[in-house]
Formats: sequence, C-alpha cells, structure tokens
Amino acid sequence: MKKYLFLGLIISSSIILSSCVTVPPKPAVYPPREISPKLPQHILRQDVVHLVAPGETIWRISKMYDVPMQDIMRANNLGKEEVLKKGENLLIPRAAPVVPVIPIYPSKKWKYIIIHHSATDEGSSLYFDKYHQGKGWEGIGYHFVINNGTGGKQDGQIEVSPRWIKQEDGSHCRANNMNERAIGICLVGNFNREYVSSKQLDALVYLVNILRRYYKIPLKRIMGHNQVLGARTECPGKNFSWTKFKNRL
Ligand SMILES: [Zn+2]
Repeated sequence: MKKYLFLGLIISSSIILSSCVTVPPKPAVYPPREISPKLPQHILRQDVVHLVAPGETIWRISKMYDVPMQDIMRANNLGKEEVLKKGENLLIPRAAPVVPVIPIYPSKKWKYIIIHHSATDEGSSLYFDKYHQGKGWEGIGYHFVINNGTGGKQDGQIEVSPRWIKQEDGSHCRANNMNERAIGICLVGNFNREYVSSKQLDALVYLVNILRRYYKIPLKRIMGHNQVLGARTECPGKNFSWTKFKNRL
C-alpha cells in the first residue's frame, strides 16, 4: 500500500512539474544541447525580478540564474497547470548573475549568420515580439536578441527567441532568401547614432563563435543585413565596426 502511495506521489509531482515547465513553444529537439559559460567560484547571489520573455520556461530561467526550478515555483506560488505568461514578473530567489543559455540543435539549414541592429534606442525580445506581431508576423522575427540594458534586461544579455527554439525560418531578411537559411541576431540600439557597447560586443562574439563552429559557417557568410545581395538598408548601422568584431572571431 505504502509503495503505491509513494509511486502515486512521484507520478503526481512529476505531472505538477511538467505542467509548469511545458510551455509552448515546443523545442525542435528535446532536451536540446545547451551551452553556457561556467560561473566563477565566488559570486554574489541576490533576489532579482525577472521579466518573462517570449518562449521562456521555468527550466530555462532556472539555468539562466542557477536556481532550482522548485525554488522559483515556490517563490512565485506557481502551481499545477500554471504556465508562464510573457511579460509577467517572476521573483528569482538567491539568483546568480544571469548567464546566456544557448540551445543548439542538429540542423543542415543554417548557412549564414546575419547581424542586425534594432534601429531603436530601447528594446528586448518582448518588445520586438509585440512590434513584429503588429506587422502581422508570427511574433519576433529574429532568432536571438542582444540587449543594451533597456527593456528590463541587462547590457550584453542574450535572449533566445521562440523561432530559434522551434528552429523556424526567420523573419528578418527577405533579400536573397536569407530568412530560410540565415540565423538572425539583433543587437538592441541604433548604430547610426550610437556605438555597440563592449558588453554587447562580448556577447555577440560569444554567440557567433558557438553558432559558426557548430554549424560550420565560414567567416565570409557572417554578414550585416546591409551586405546581403538585394537588401536596401543601413542595418546594422554605420557605427558597427566589422574590423573590431571579426578580429575576435
Ligand atoms: Zn536588419
């Protein structure tokens, strides 16, 4: 009898857990291989408020802040059948400094990496998701966003968009059919007026190195939106330094 009760407890707790973490979008491969930098030995942990981005799950957020999922669920009274809503605030107890969690999926689809700027002073994946939906697209058109310290995100933070998690075509560069074969990365900022921050550049180098090595993308296929054949745009802005960026790849 006791044995069955115990089994029942395991089953019901796993149902509670899975109902909380299984939020659309469904990843293209589950579980994906994920790449994150190692945390230094001595870190300052503190309670932080996290603004939920499109497609984020408790599982992903727990890895970003190195906090067990159960602790996040308890701190926010998240119960059975509860799913995260984009734009809601979550308390993350005893959070480590946020780190990028980059999921990698086996694919032959990705042949190029295209760099964009948002041409706005502020933004985040949540902001672009709303904006792109307003254009009639299926949510945010980029695969990754690199923040500039606005929109409730930190300078140099890397956000992973649902399009990447689902391994879908982008909606960021129609010219030369790039939406179907290029990974789209957007840096928040207007680099016709401003400059890429050093933390954004570090994050871009980190992300592009992971992607180009895994998908075997040669350096000449890592380009700005304005370098794509047929694209008539200034994106990613005249202040974006290709020498500074490519020297670090
Ligand atoms: Zn662009």
